[in-house]
Amino acid sequence: MTELIKSSAADLAAKLAAKEVSAVEVTQAHLDRIAAVDGAVHAFLHINTDEALAVAAEVDAARARGGADAENLHELAGVPIAVKDLIVTIGQPTTAGSKILEGWHSPYDATVVKKLRAARMPILGKTNLDEFAMGSSTEHSAFGPTHNPWDLDRIPGGSGGGSAAAVAAFEAPLALGTDTGGSIRQPGAVTGTVGVKPTYGAVSRYGAIAMASSLDQIGPVSRTVLDAALLQEVIGGHDPFDSTSLTDPSTGLVAAARLGNVKGMKIGIISELHGEGYQAGVEARFNESLELLRSAGAEIVEVSCPNLTYALGAYYLIMPSEASSNLAKFDGVRFGLRALPTDGPMTIERVMGATRAAGFGDEVKRRIILGTYALSAGYYDAYYGSAQKVRTLIQRDFDAAFAQADVLISPTAPTTAFKLGEKLDDPLAMYLNDVATIPANLAGIPGLSLPSGLADEDGLPAGVQLLAPARQDARLYRVGAVLESLLEEQWGGPLLNKAPQLPTAASNAKESK
Ligand code: GLN
Repeated sequence: MTELIKSSAADLAAKLAAKEVSAVEVTQAHLDRIAAVDGAVHAFLHINTDEALAVAAEVDAARARGGADAENLHELAGVPIAVKDLIVTIGQPTTAGSKILEGWHSPYDATVVKKLRAARMPILGKTNLDEFAMGSSTEHSAFGPTHNPWDLDRIPGGSGGGSAAAVAAFEAPLALGTDTGGSIRQPGAVTGTVGVKPTYGAVSRYGAIAMASSLDQIGPVSRTVLDAALLQEVIGGHDPFDSTSLTDPSTGLVAAARLGNVKGMKIGIISELHGEGYQAGVEARFNESLELLRSAGAEIVEVSCPNLTYALGAYYLIMPSEASSNLAKFDGVRFGLRALPTDGPMTIERVMGATRAAGFGDEVKRRIILGTYALSAGYYDAYYGSAQKVRTLIQRDFDAAFAQADVLISPTAPTTAFKLGEKLDDPLAMYLNDVATIPANLAGIPGLSLPSGLADEDGLPAGVQLLAPARQDARLYRVGAVLESLLEEQWGGPLLNKAPQLPTAASNAKESK
């Protein structure tokens, strides 16, 4: 079992194709792992046991029948996956981490979920997140926080802490996340996993509950760069249900990850995204990655994107503005919770007010208020309008930077995982976790985070982020694969091998006897 849960998705796919193992065995091994450790980690909000096993059994049956049935199986058929609970699924609840959607079942599947089903990847369940994907620690979930598998007293990042923790704790080889300002990459950095935010539009957003539509992007969470590429090829591509989805085919990513070559490539350090404000160990691991890339034949140059200094400010106007509008639909009339006013007249406005007061948590309310204010007449130009102008300047900075370098590089997050509760009452400190990830969302460019090493005295991981021009996601995989293999050579294997053993349900039961 340990061997199965520790295998990468690519290795599992090879073992399944060679009939060394069945899809039911692979899926059961992960369900067993979830049963053993998720009481401590709390990566999952819902576990989809029966359906996952049924899909796995179908894969095994198709393989046993042989012929066209077996040949038509997707490479990842039978490789299980976890899905962030912001993404809608038929047959399982979708909560977005919010009381307002508790018990709600979607009548349709997100496009990415349809694609997972078409590839016959068993869906293990839905993972925890900050409510409506607002946060950097998964502490804003209405259903309790997720714990970092490296240290259960620490945050797993956010908003996709559940997906990252599930993959880091070997509960799933793959997961889906969503990234509006860093929610795939920053959890990747603090849990020692790989996370990719594809180019805006490369993966359909249809069925991802919208936070900020011009920034949101679904993407892969994995333990290896190749696995992320395999998953992005499954979920990517044009979707008529998402008018912002690109017509580009989602190909060449796996080939790029397998090629892994940086000879002659120019890699640009972004001056504004390292140094002051970044933990010393994070910076040291970042510098080692640069050295390794140099040793592999890349030319390292320094580029400046001066307007990135304003990225956080622009993001915290644009994101809440769009969120305030997107979240207007949670009104107690159409989906989920309906709370009634305790006294006074029962008007529709008062029912909506009572529902939203009871259903939304503090962070969501804070952002709705911020966004509504920024969009209000008289303030629109000063706030939202100015932020959009800054966004254009940031896009131009990236254009100029990519004229000097093929790929840009920075630490993914300024620090390693902080303690649960440490920043909960300080929204600004929480927002600062995303300084390095937000610019990619504002510019619509792709970003990949991979582990850079252990970065503090507590032995916690940090991440390094690669950025490429829009539609050049393949470059991230090409460079990421080289860096990953050089780093793993140094570590003597994957970084996650260094993570402490998690307490299991069985060992807890023994202790309490
Ligand atoms: N942490 C950021 C925020 O709170 C990003 C969230 C996200 O990417 N979904 O807005």
